[in-house]
Order: sequence, then structure tokens, then C-alpha cells
Amino acid sequence: MSDILDVKVNEFMAKLIARNPGESEFHQAVQEVIESLWPFIEDNPKYKSTKILERMTEPERVLMFRVPWVDDNGEIQVNRGFRIEMNSAIGPYKGGLRFHPTVNLGILKFLAFEQVFKNSLTSLPMGGGKGGSDFDPKGKSDNEIMKFCQSFMTELQRHIGQDTDVPAGDIGVGGREIGYLFGQYKRIVNEFTGVLTGKGLEWGGSLIRPEATGYGAVYFANEMLKTRNEGIKGKVAVVSGSGNVAQYTVEKLLQFGGKPVTLSDSAGFIYDPDGISMEKLQYVMELKNIKRGRIQEYADKFKVKYVEGERPWNVKCDLAFPSATQNEINEEDAKELVKNGCFIVSEGANMPSTPEAVEVFLEAKILYGPGKAANAGGVATSGLEMTQNSMRLPWTREEVDERLQHIMKNIHETCVKYGKDSSGFINYVNGANIGGFIKVADAMIAQGVV
Ligand code: NDP
Repeated sequence: MSDILDVKVNEFMAKLIARNPGESEFHQAVQEVIESLWPFIEDNPKYKSTKILERMTEPERVLMFRVPWVDDNGEIQVNRGFRIEMNSAIGPYKGGLRFHPTVNLGILKFLAFEQVFKNSLTSLPMGGGKGGSDFDPKGKSDNEIMKFCQSFMTELQRHIGQDTDVPAGDIGVGGREIGYLFGQYKRIVNEFTGVLTGKGLEWGGSLIRPEATGYGAVYFANEMLKTRNEGIKGKVAVVSGSGNVAQYTVEKLLQFGGKPVTLSDSAGFIYDPDGISMEKLQYVMELKNIKRGRIQEYADKFKVKYVEGERPWNVKCDLAFPSATQNEINEEDAKELVKNGCFIVSEGANMPSTPEAVEVFLEAKILYGPGKAANAGGVATSGLEMTQNSMRLPWTREEVDERLQHIMKNIHETCVKYGKDSSGFINYVNGANIGGFIKVADAMIAQGVV
């Protein structure tokens, strides 16, 4: 970027930071997008005169509310609930709910902002939103989880609706939580509608939705590999996390003939040099989704290495799938990955790489697929769930999977269209940011100053 553009980006960011103090993740997410977009906007002045960037970085609505509930000891607990309704230019607000003790306004604003671009990239009619709570589901009984979800929905229900705002899952919110949330919504509103996605199959859920984010990240990696006439077969992959996204990333990698060798949780990672097989993955699914245990137990059971307190980025690999949380790859980790021969990063998690790490990937000219493109398969399939709910007709597994693959391929094409530079290198960050921006910005202009 030229010096003049640098100054303009810095001025914009200084104002944004002053308006949103202490929200470092939100600042980080906006900065990345603005750096990509600024040269494009200079060439297309209609976006400047209509103050699109100023409007897109201000949520349409922020909801923050008390969530009181009674734990198993009869003690009253108080958590904080949020919903960020970021942008509805191209459809109802859509985005997950995160239950994790680190949740705060800045984290949810970063996630909601990213969601706007991601949802646009899917080419489905979905605006962007995100929500959640600082509630920690770890160590809570099923009864406590239900009590919390019911209290959370008692407030949230007045702000959402199938044509208004349609939440889904994220960290700490899986099938069990969506069930409790949906039950309470239905009870209060007296309507059976597709107000949440990620529902159970028997009550309006879509086949492939649980798998979609992980599968999508692997489909996206496959598309990136094709640009270098390569495939996943035989490649060693490092995966972080061991939740929803990580599990189905491993499953799809195995189906493509890849060799996933790591998984992690917030306490450490396991390294299985023989590869995590389907049978071992079944064990992980039971461990994490039913027993709700720690990944260390994998190492004990299969007699492999467990590294406490660390992430798996120094393990030699061809492909990396960060699938745990934001800022889990720093500059040193990125250098280590590149040094060890990793030439693809496909982000299942949202913003898992710090700006310095992204810089390392781009300078090394590896295939770097940012989360808003690579992990869009989850929300895309949520969009497909909404369509099936509206039609009151379920599609088969094959139909949904085919649509998911098609969407991931299209997102990849969009990234290539807007991200390929004169040397032929595909900058997927620019591609995803510009590709996601245009549709939302044009819709905002068409709808006037709202
Ligand atoms: P889950 O709750 O199912 O799993 C999260 C995993 O990441 C767990 O292994 C968890 O370990 C680990 N983790 C969470 N927080 C941290 C942390 N601060 N440090 C280290 N490890 C951590 O969540 P998902 O798999 O659904 O989500 C993972 C990522 O993917 C998130 O960034 C999410 O935003 C993103 N994503 C998810 C989508 C979905 O459809 N679910 C869609 C698009 C993106 P532990 O159990 O120890 O906390």
C-alpha cells in the first residue's frame, strides 16, 4: 500500500479505536478488512461518498442483557448475554452464539463483522450477526446448561425471528444447547419456525449441518490445492481444537486420503504420528461430545505424545487447519509452520492467525485461506437449513453436501477473481474481503441512508 493510503487507513482506525475503546479483536478484524479494501474503494469512489465503511463498522443494533439462573446448589448465578445485529442489507441477521468465559463485546463485534463478509461470500441471502454469553459450560450439569439456555432465550426471543435474526451454534453451543434454546423459544412464542439453525434432524435440522464447517474447510483447501495441481491424498495435516469444526475436518481429511496427526484443546495437544484414523476419531467424538473429557485422554489411550499448555504448530506438516479459536497462531508459530514445509493454511476457526502471522503466510506466498472464506461452509449450510425450513421439505444428505461443495467452490472462485495479483499469486485475504464487500455495499447504497 502507498504511504498516502497508509495514512488514510491509520486515520480511519484511530477514529474507530476511539469510538470502540478496549475492543482489540474488533479493531484487529476491521484493520485487516480496511487494508484490503482501501485501494479498491479509492478506485470506486461511490463507496467513499456513501460512507459505507463508517456504516459497516457500526452495528445496526447491540443487545446486552442479564441472564440470571439457579445452579444445582440452589445458588443464583448471573451472566451477561449479547446479540450483535451487525448488518441486514442482504438478509436477516445470521451468525452463531458463543458460550465461553472470554466472551465480551469486542470479541462478538469482531465475529459479527467477519460474519457480514462471510455470509455475503456464500451468495445466500443472509445478513451478519453474532451473540453469546460469558457463561462457561465446562463442568456444568445438563440441568444447569438447560437452566442457563432457558434464561438466555427468555430475553433473546423478543429480538429474533425467522425473518429477523436467526442464531446458530459456535464455541460452547452445539446440538444440546440449540435444543434447549429452541424449546424455550417455541414455548414462549408459540411458533414452530426455523428461528435457530443447527437443530436436531427430527425437528427441522439439516443433514450435514454439524459436519459443514469442517467439511467446508477441507473442500476449500482442496480448491486451493488444485491451483497448484495438487491434492490432499497423502498429505500430513495438523489440526487444532477437538470440537465440532476439528472433528469434521479430520473426518473429511480422512475421506480425501489425508493424514491428520494432531488435535488439541485449551489444555494442550496430542501428536499421533501414525495418523488419527476413523476409529480413533470415533473415540474423540465420544470423549468430547458425550463424556466431555479432555484430549489428554487420547494420549493415554493410544499411547501417543501429549504436550501440555502448547499448540501443535511446531509439528511438521503439509497442511494446517486451525480450528479452535482466535489468535491461536502467532508470528513465531507461522514461521515455524512455513519453515517445516506447511504450504496451506485453511482456517476453520475465526481469525485464528494474528496479523503478524498472516503477514508471514503472505510473504512466503503459501496458500492461505482466511476464516471468512474457508469456514463459510457452516453458515452456508445453516442457510440451506433455513431454506428447507421455509419449504418444510428436507433434502437428502447427498443434496446438501453437493450444494455445500458447490458453494465452497464458488467462494474460492470469488477469492481468485478479486485476489489474484499481476504475478499470479492469489491473495485470498484481499479476495475474500473485496468479494464479500461488494454485494453488501451495493445493497446498502440501493437501500439509502439507513
Ligand atoms: P467447539 O466448542 O465445538 O470446540 C472448540 C474447541 O476449541 C475445543 O477443543 C476447545 O477446547 C478449543 N478452544 C476454545 N477456546 C480455546 C482457547 N481460548 N484456547 C485454546 N483452545 C480453545 O467450537 P467449534 O468447533 O464450533 O468452533 C471452533 C472455531 O470455529 C471457533 O473459532 C468458531 O468461531 C469457528 N467456527 C465455528 C463454526 C461452527 O459451525 N461451529 C462456523 C464457523 C466458524 P476446550 O474444550 O478446552 O475449551
